[in-house]
Amino acid sequence: MIEPVILVHGGAGDIPEWRVPLKMHGVRKAVKAGYEILSNTEGCVLDAVEAAIKVMEDDEAFNAGKGSVLTIKGTIEMDAIIMEGENLKTGAVAGLSNVAHPVTVARLVMDTTPHIFLAGPGANDFAMEKGVPFVPDDELITDFARQALEDFIHGKGEATSELGKESKYGTVGAVAIDRYGHMACATSTGGMTGKLPGRVGDTPLVGAGGYCDDASGACSATGHGESIARVCLCHHIIGLMQSGLGPKQATELALTNMHERTGGTAGAITLSNKGQVGIHFNSKRMAWAYAQNGEIHSGINPDEDEIESI
Ligand code: ASP
Repeated sequence: MIEPVILVHGGAGDIPEWRVPLKMHGVRKAVKAGYEILSNTEGCVLDAVEAAIKVMEDDEAFNAGKGSVLTIKGTIEMDAIIMEGENLKTGAVAGLSNVAHPVTVARLVMDTTPHIFLAGPGANDFAMEKGVPFVPDDELITDFARQALEDFIHGKGEATSELGKESKYGTVGAVAIDRYGHMACATSTGGMTGKLPGRVGDTPLVGAGGYCDDASGACSATGHGESIARVCLCHHIIGLMQSGLGPKQATELALTNMHERTGGTAGAITLSNKGQVGIHFNSKRMAWAYAQNGEIHSGINPDEDEIESI
């Protein structure tokens, strides 16, 4: 038996000071929701990561579900992935609108179709056919996301000069291991402010925005999607672990390599199949939290680790 662990992130980027408490509250709440499921004997590791992601998709402090950032046309196009490590099953969606929980639609792709990835109108029709509630995009779009797009269009803010070089708004991700050693990962995002309609980032790409294999570990990424995808960041991290590195060293090395080769900034959370944690980001900040042995660890600035008991 293994001590269950769940580790989440709330997005890498240049997070402004006033958003810090909102994000910290959100990641701790998400990790508690997932840990409750893992602590239950019948709890399934996929249910745990999905529950943690749903908490953050409902929370406008994050760029996923409600609070998703907008395309250059002011529309919402959300991407998500979920993967399990026992049989390497995965499901993903891209360009989704009008749903509160893209991660649930990704899980339905995995559980109920022979496919791994549905995009655009096909993904939306699939969600409706599966009975996923329709949510008007107006209910998902926040004033903050509208303002971010205004700033982008008028040349203010970090993301203006170079699209998404430094995202500020917080994709969400989760990785977990249950008492039987089964692992899962999930990642969900609205993408980058001002993206072209139809743009798909790293998040729903297997091996880029997430990867999971019970034989080694689970990983979820956040940050500049084009850079993450070009180096298949999560698969790279898992590969480094397969060749003997621990999750901490593997995550740091892969992110350093990504930055050297692409110039992009990003972060990732990694869990080994022994329940060891790896957290690293080369952006200014990344909110994260994990629960293990009845304690929650969390942080947002480099080298931070606050501990509280559950
Ligand atoms: N990786 C996401 C994307 O490029 C954005 C983020 O993580 O903030 O779509």
